Amino acid sequence: MKVDLLGDWRRTHTCGDLRKADVGAQVIVMGWVQTRRDHGGLIFVDLRDRYGVTQVVFNPEIAPQVHEMAHALRSEYVIAVQGTVEVRPKDMENPRIATGEIEVTVHGLKILNESKTPYFPIEDEAEVAENVRLKYRYLDLRRGRMQENLLLRHRAAKIVRDYLSSQGFVEIETPFLTRSTPEGARDYLVPSRMNPGSFYALPQSPQLFKQLLMVSGFDRYFQIVKCFRDEDLRADRQPEFTQIDAEMSFVGPEDIQECMEGMLEAVFGAILGIQLTRPFPRMSYHEAMARYGSDRPDLRFGMELVDVIDVVSQSNFQVFTQAIEEGGIVKGINLRGGGGRSRKEIEELVGTAQSYGAKGLAWLKVEAEGYQSPIAKFFRPEDLQEIAARMEGRPGDLLLFVADGAQVVHEVLGQLRIHLAREGGLIKTGAYQFLWVVDFPLLEYDEEQKRYVAVHHPFTAPREEDWVRLKDAPLEVRANAYDIVLNGSEIGGGSIRNHRGDIQRQLFEILGIGKEEAEAKFGFLLEALDYGAPPHGGIAFGFDRLVMMLCNAESIREVIPFPKTQKASCPLTGSPATVDPQQLKELYLKVDI
Ligand code: ASP
Repeated sequence: MKVDLLGDWRRTHTCGDLRKADVGAQVIVMGWVQTRRDHGGLIFVDLRDRYGVTQVVFNPEIAPQVHEMAHALRSEYVIAVQGTVEVRPKDMENPRIATGEIEVTVHGLKILNESKTPYFPIEDEAEVAENVRLKYRYLDLRRGRMQENLLLRHRAAKIVRDYLSSQGFVEIETPFLTRSTPEGARDYLVPSRMNPGSFYALPQSPQLFKQLLMVSGFDRYFQIVKCFRDEDLRADRQPEFTQIDAEMSFVGPEDIQECMEGMLEAVFGAILGIQLTRPFPRMSYHEAMARYGSDRPDLRFGMELVDVIDVVSQSNFQVFTQAIEEGGIVKGINLRGGGGRSRKEIEELVGTAQSYGAKGLAWLKVEAEGYQSPIAKFFRPEDLQEIAARMEGRPGDLLLFVADGAQVVHEVLGQLRIHLAREGGLIKTGAYQFLWVVDFPLLEYDEEQKRYVAVHHPFTAPREEDWVRLKDAPLEVRANAYDIVLNGSEIGGGSIRNHRGDIQRQLFEILGIGKEEAEAKFGFLLEALDYGAPPHGGIAFGFDRLVMMLCNAESIREVIPFPKTQKASCPLTGSPATVDPQQLKELYLKVDI
């Protein structure tokens, strides 16, 4: 078949442009063949591009030669047609597409390229295995939904840029070939050919550079930037992902929070047409854990965790009393209307709780004339009544309890709460519930490494009033840090930094990073802090996740043009891949697996 050159043909309109007002116009449109329908006489082609779909008609009576050529058209051929815009007969109108009232009667056709038959049809409805989608990502990205997602992503990034620029932020690039920036993951390393045996680390975040930019006096920095973390790709992570990264000087945490609420207000207003209620609520880490069993609580529904230690400690139920004696706690949640569940269904629930780490799950059905439960007999009636009252248990409810160390209880009930809410359809759709979680602990003890580690990252400042406790009660020191949570997902986090070298050095010591190691790894930062670093702090948002939520997509891979699989590989390019021995030699590397 003859494939034509573009020649002097130029598009007059996209496939989404033409309307009734254009009837009579001579036009040239170009795009991909979505479908071809041969009705014996007439051949109809739906021509598609990023902007829409236009029906073009080949009529043997109007242009016999062109009509003949149209027989060769197949899905995804790239064509240009020249023709006249005409009104569609009333019964042929298609109200589902913007161009549905018109069609183009074709006088001239150029086949600009052929296409092999794609592995899947280019339409949203086609169910396609993800690895096939990723291998043929360029075809997958032709689909309407993916195009919408990436266009939305572009708009969101532009709104962020415009908003932050209007607030005096300057977008400044920071290096990818750099030293390790610890954010709790493994580094991606890049060997240096010029410096045999030495490696750059790809940044886990621009953290240290943005702090240096504050030392340089830029006052307000931002960047929409790739970050690299080599971690196991649990659920919804990517080895390279995008952050909206920001840093500000001479501010407290509320200044940063306020500014970022403004940014989110702009984004949600422009993209979803939603007016966010500000200021967003704030909750301490401890309160979030106690009431929701999570440091990123989903506030779109209730089912809060209720503490029943004092009541159940009176009982004869050993599982509870023993847990309490061992320093643990007992908490419960109320599954409203769950009392109708059968034994078998409850057993399944116990299994679910066990999969979250519980040893067991105790339960109590509230009934009109009392309580039904294998453990009821261990309790005095007035205690059962007190428990039910505290948990607002009404006849027909199912009360569920976990007894264990606080961490396990919170983890299990926190997850069970989400599980039950999803299962029961209790989560309001279309609601956007933001929350700042504040007052995180600064440090936690890592049993494996036998040392304290930073909960956020080691550059986060303790709350000023907690400085004095750094030495003797480090686990009680609160960080001047905050996370922002949307509908139970952490979408961002940040902190006020240690702008004083002495405090930062002291913190490294507590973290078990000795003087020498601190100098070797972070000497440049420590030195910079000694040259008049202003007080500063910042935040970073996971841009992919934010866009995912704006698109109402199921996974961040739906909003990343070329994502990696769970095994951190790219089915399209075949990366990662082995390299030429010569390349290794130049890098002074030997691969010995
Ligand atoms: N660098 C931090 C992160 O990547 C964010 C921040 O503290 O600004 O999570």
